Amino acid sequence: MTQNRPTGVPCPNCGTFIPMTVEGLLGAAPFTCPNRACETTLHINVESSRGSLEILEKFERETAPAQKLKKTFGSR
Ligand SMILES: [Zn+2]
Repeated sequence: MTQNRPTGVPCPNCGTFIPMTVEGLLGAAPFTCPNRACETTLHINVESSRGSLEILEKFERETAPAQKLKKTFGSR
């Protein structure tokens, strides 16, 4: 039961997992490495990266059912 994996990328500098947000994928906010000794900032240009768009689509597909599930559990 590990369907709810977080979307993200490993930091190119230190390898720390950087969780992705929709805002970041849309270019509204850069991703920052959570490793405070590194703090590499990743700017993802969705316009020039088809891969990011695919990740975004996957992200939305995966988060939508998760939110539904949460609601179902909450109303129980
Ligand atoms: Zn890093």
